[in-house]
Parts: sequence; structure tokens; C-alpha cells
Amino acid sequence: MRYREAAVTITDDTAWAAVMRRDRTYDGRFVTGVLTTGIYCRPSCAARHPDRGNVRFFTDCAAARAAGLRACKRCLPDDVGRDEAAVLAAIDEIRNAQDVPSLAVLAELTGYSPTHFQRIFKRAIGLSPASYARALREERARNSLSAGESVTGAIYEAGYGSASRFYENTKGRLGMTASAWANGGAGVTINWAVVETSMGPMLVAATQKGVCRLSFGEDESELARRFPKAELVEGGDGFAKLLAEVVASVEAPGDFSHIPLDVKGTAFQEACWDALRAIPPGETRTYSEIAAAAGNAKAVRAAGSANARNNVAVLIPCHRVVRKGGDLGGYAYGPDIKRELLKRERR
Ligand SMILES: [Zn+2]
Repeated sequence: MRYREAAVTITDDTAWAAVMRRDRTYDGRFVTGVLTTGIYCRPSCAARHPDRGNVRFFTDCAAARAAGLRACKRCLPDDVGRDEAAVLAAIDEIRNAQDVPSLAVLAELTGYSPTHFQRIFKRAIGLSPASYARALREERARNSLSAGESVTGAIYEAGYGSASRFYENTKGRLGMTASAWANGGAGVTINWAVVETSMGPMLVAATQKGVCRLSFGEDESELARRFPKAELVEGGDGFAKLLAEVVASVEAPGDFSHIPLDVKGTAFQEACWDALRAIPPGETRTYSEIAAAAGNAKAVRAAGSANARNNVAVLIPCHRVVRKGGDLGGYAYGPDIKRELLKRERR
């Protein structure tokens, strides 16, 4: 069974893997029904995992209820939408208030108890409301760094229709390193290497956080052009293991979602990159489908530009985007590499 989520589908295997990880980014995208107990849960429910054989996935709470299941009292799956609205309302309040609103004020605004509200906010954003407010202030202070979209501004941008998309795009992204990205890599050490692959020389570069550039036919000079203020270090002990994983995933494509990335774009670009990463290996999508999956079906050209601005080839699989009608379409590193990547993934 497959669940439609804009242009991207979630398979049972993906759903089960998300349940096993208690992955909150999947909350709101499906619910887990447990036939033996008669309840349904968020994917992230903290309760003990049911046996796989007793589980059925439903696209939403209504479908689970229609099958005769009741909501879990522990994870309250029916509240996903309400939680999202509360968090968005609080963000709005924090962004627009003159002084930082207290937790009590935010709780009152959203109708939750302070402790409960603190918990759902932290679950969604990864920071407490107070830390978020602090990060926002700091970011505003250094906003002159970049003409680009700011991190905290990004989650505020329109087009974030669903809770899941909102969670996906904020999770782990409120790190303070965004300013380094905006500022040519100032203060950041980037380890890099050029390795020979079956598709020609490949440049891999990574910060402490993850891969920040993967490209074909480039060398250190291109890296220096993109990150003029970063310290560029060829090789490195910690880097070698990551490099090996990256090379393996290019030579024998499979699931490489575990490889950490350090990328930064506008909210819409990042939503497009997430949509690219959600395309199963061996499948392709059109720009319109990526735009729809990123939350704005009309932004087809912007989706194309997000594709072009992808810094991390292969791992953000922009090669899986083709023209309507099946024509291969363009690729930054030429059609041969694109064709070869797709061919390997279809095996
Ligand atoms: Zn539950």
C-alpha cells in the first residue's frame, strides 16, 4: 500500500522505519494502527513498539477511526494539527512582540498548559520558546550578513501547509551555523578530497555537521570560490570515514539518507531539496511534482532553480528530476553522469 503525499509517496517500509526511529517528522503524514490493541498512534509514539504483523498504516486519523480504531491516549495523534497551529501562533507572537513573551503568555495564547506547551514547542522546533526567541534576536542582529532568507524567517515563510512539512524543515535547522553559510564559510573548517570514481573525479567537502559540497569535475579552487572565508583542509581522519560512505553511495546507490548534510537555502529551496530526497531510488519526478511536494504547486520555475542551486549532487538527488514526457532534462555535470546515476538506481 502507498500513501500519497503530494507527489511523494510513503511506502509501508518507509513508514515502519519511521515508526522504529520514532521519527517526529512523520507525525501528521500517517498514523500507525495496531490491530491487536485497537488503537492508532503518531509514528513517534513513545509507547513500546507493536509487532510489525499487527500494524496497519493509515493516511490519517479519520481513516484509522473508520477502521474502528481509537486514538492512543499517550501520543494523542488527533492533536497533531492543533499542536502545529499552536506552535505557529507562538512563533508569530515571538516574532512580532516587542519583548520576549513569557511561557505563561504563550501557553495562554495557545490554550495549553505551560509545561505541555513547552513540550510541544520543543518537539516541533528543537528549542524551547525562550531559546528560540534568543536565537531570533541574535539572528536579527547579524542579518546584514546575507541578502538571503534567514533561518528563523524561513519557517515563517508561506507555503508550509502541513505539520509534517513544517517539522521536516525546521528540524535541526536552527543551528547557529547558518550565518557561516551566508558569510562564505567564515569560522568554519571544511575538509575536502577529490576522489576518482567510475564517473570521473568527484569533489566531496564536509563541515563538522555534514557534506556541504559534492560535485563532479571540480577541484579545490571551486571550493575556495564558494567558501572564500572557510579554512580548507585536504583529507583528515574524521573525514575519511564519511568520504568512504559517500563514495560507496555514489558507486552503488542505495539508501544514503543517513549521510549528514550541511546545506542552506531559502525555505522553499530546502523544501525542494527535502522533496528530492524523498524520491525513492530508481524513480523520477518532474519539476511540477517537486514544486507541489515542496508546498507550492505553482512554483515550478523556483523548483527548477532550487534544483540548480543544489550544492550536494547525488545525496540530494537532483538527477531524479526529468522533463514531463520522460525526456532526461539537464544536469549540472552533463547528461552522461545523470543517465548513469539513474541507470544504476534502477537496478
Ligand atoms: Zn501512541
